[in-house]
Amino acid sequence: MPLDPRRDPAAFPVTHPPVGVALARGAMFRCPACGQGKLFDGYLRLADECSACHVPLGRIRADDAPPYFTILIAGHVLVPGVFLVEKLWRPEMWVHMAIWLPLFAIVCTLMLRPVKGMVVAWMLRLGLTGDEQGPAIPAAVQPAGPAQLAVRRPAGDA
Ligand SMILES: [Zn+2]
Repeated sequence: MPLDPRRDPAAFPVTHPPVGVALARGAMFRCPACGQGKLFDGYLRLADECSACHVPLGRIRADDAPPYFTILIAGHVLVPGVFLVEKLWRPEMWVHMAIWLPLFAIVCTLMLRPVKGMVVAWMLRLGLTGDEQGPAIPAAVQPAGPAQLAVRRPAGDA
């Protein structure tokens, strides 16, 4: 029995495709549950819910997992190339920087969105819908902005 019944995929009222199908749908920016609706509302912002099956997507918190996996994969793909170029041609350091820094930036930028789609699909498959942190914070209870945080001095205090 799972520790938290909300994390039990069987208890979550969403159809659960096989993990590979869900990951593929996430990588193609589609709803992992149905494969029809959009997963993202922007480059990395999740849609609030699927437009087709209305599964709640916007509260899923992937946090640092997508950048972690992106850097892990990009590093394992590109760093051997760095070593190979250094071993074969021994170019100047500025040549390395001119080649590899933009290449790392481009590869990571292109990979981040599909990797986040797969992470979100994986989390949805595990039943991690964002409710495990408690209910959403109502608008009236949201943290105060800088104006509300200003220190109020008692009257007569200079
Ligand atoms: Zn859907």
